[in-house]
Amino acid sequence: MTPEEALRIYWGFSSFRPLQREIVESVLCGRDTLALLPTGGGKSLCYQVPAVCSEGVTLVISPLIALMNDQVAALQKKGIRAAAITSQLSKREWLSVLDNWRESDVKLLYLSPEKLQNSLLQEKLGQLKISFIAVDEAHCISQWGHDFRPAYRQIDNLREVLPPDTAVLALTATATPEVIDDIATSLRFRPGHQVFKKSFHRPNLSYNIRIVENKIDRLIQALRAVPGSAIVFMRHRLKTAQVAQFLRAHGIMADYYHAGLTAEERMEKQNDWMQGKTRVIAATNAFGMGIDKPEVRLVVHLDPVPSLEEYFQEAGRAGRDEKLAYAVSFISPADIARLTDPSNNPFPSPDEIAEVYQKLFEFLRIPLGQGEWEKFPFSIQKFAEYTKLPKLKCYEILRWLERDGHISFDDQCLRHSRLHFYFDFYDLSARHSPESAVVQVVQNVLRMYEGVRYTLVEIDEARIAKMAEVDEPQVKKILYHLSRTGDADYYPKNTEGFLTLLKPRLDRKIFKIDPEEYSFRKARHQARLESVKKFYQSTNQCRVIQLLHYLGEKKTEPCGLCDFCRDQRRMQKNPSPHSLQLRKASEKEIITRQADGQILFKKT
Ligand code: ADP
Ligand code: MG
Repeated sequence: MTPEEALRIYWGFSSFRPLQREIVESVLCGRDTLALLPTGGGKSLCYQVPAVCSEGVTLVISPLIALMNDQVAALQKKGIRAAAITSQLSKREWLSVLDNWRESDVKLLYLSPEKLQNSLLQEKLGQLKISFIAVDEAHCISQWGHDFRPAYRQIDNLREVLPPDTAVLALTATATPEVIDDIATSLRFRPGHQVFKKSFHRPNLSYNIRIVENKIDRLIQALRAVPGSAIVFMRHRLKTAQVAQFLRAHGIMADYYHAGLTAEERMEKQNDWMQGKTRVIAATNAFGMGIDKPEVRLVVHLDPVPSLEEYFQEAGRAGRDEKLAYAVSFISPADIARLTDPSNNPFPSPDEIAEVYQKLFEFLRIPLGQGEWEKFPFSIQKFAEYTKLPKLKCYEILRWLERDGHISFDDQCLRHSRLHFYFDFYDLSARHSPESAVVQVVQNVLRMYEGVRYTLVEIDEARIAKMAEVDEPQVKKILYHLSRTGDADYYPKNTEGFLTLLKPRLDRKIFKIDPEEYSFRKARHQARLESVKKFYQSTNQCRVIQLLHYLGEKKTEPCGLCDFCRDQRRMQKNPSPHSLQLRKASEKEIITRQADGQILFKKT
């Protein structure tokens, strides 16, 4: 089958997009290939098409279990056999996938990089007929990439068990020069390898950074000004439900999405948004991976992003149809101040990481040298109580251990409690004295979660307890009681996620964090935040020029669409005292542009 035939028969597409054909060709010729295409550029096809056209099975290394499962399901639907080996499978399950690949005629086998480190698995892979290896999200290889995953650096081990002429295709949307070099070196690209790179400039996308205090009002304004499908990104899960609720209260069809919802809930919300039943989705960055909706007109950020790479990717979800679209960030002066404030830094210290590592095994009752590939139901809440550390800190450290390949952590069932009130508050206050705990709790719930009277909303009992000045068990008891009397629906949270240990427990003396590595990562983390801060504060350059420069591309022509370019044009038309002020503004000053065009300055 030729690539064109495969494209038509399996995907129903009539032609390749720019560079796809060249990349497919290069892989089919057996060359090591690096494909740099922006998000949504169609990277998956670059390995799926040659996989279908080749004999044997294509290995796809991919970082996210959810993404792998989605892709496998999508391929199966098209009649292409695919399977995924993730840390969710037991040893018996993954062995059976590998032992039966020939009979099951699997064309694409998805693997997580951590899984790949298993020597038995490598040995089994050596017995398969491998057509080529695709490394998706290849920036994870590089310490310079924003999602660095150490296990990605060991993918080249595969070269030892596979025939020397096995081609490797690396795909990424991150194109900073350090990352590119790092990918090619780490995957041991052979001479004659090819790099395909599409410019990351999106000429139809207008980037806007607005420093404001009243984000939510500005969000409503933006959604009224730009009709059509929209995504509103924020960093905290809880906030997604609140923002969606607020938008609905203002007559905007909105829903929310984050990784803590169940798979069914996520699928339903995603589908409603894809089909236009929901106009706006308020989401954490868990939304959008592998989701393709060409006609998104507006992407709003309500919180600072941790890196410009991520900003670029998330903003880039707007306007895939190449028609005019907007990316708008509403950032407050306080956000900017917090960005690089060390006391606000979630970066755990080496001691904290080592301590939590030991505590984790104690908590799970795993002796030294044991535990590899064991999977446990796991509650972060309970673990945090055990360690006596704040939950968020525990979470950060578990994520660190995950990045280092010690554990795999699946928090998808980490659900928030949900609540829906049915009664009229005045009835309730007639039945109870105003000082009673019931009234206190209910009053605070109504104040904190406006939507609770209309629908099920996610709630946080601990916060309610704090606001109502009662203890948390009592809050739960009261909510239980209300649900028993038919006044409310209350679904207490089920925090049980799953945790898989990927390596045996190490002794305190052996588990070490390489200080050099640590300071490197910390410095990178800081540098990234500094770049974000600079980008937010800059008032003297086109946004596209800044972004492309950061991504290693040279562009000198202003885009004409971003906030800077438009402000410039406005100033040239009618230079006002404000515009003179704007030009003189130093980088240290924070500028607030009011809705009426007035510009305010604040010294930081
Ligand atoms: P990336 O991984 O680069 O972010 P994807 O591989 O997820 O992008 O592809 C994004 C979307 O583009 C998918 O919906 C895919 O079906 C579509 N697409 C890819 N190639 C083509 C093509 N040649 N013609 C039409 N649609 C395509
Ligand atoms: Mg992709």
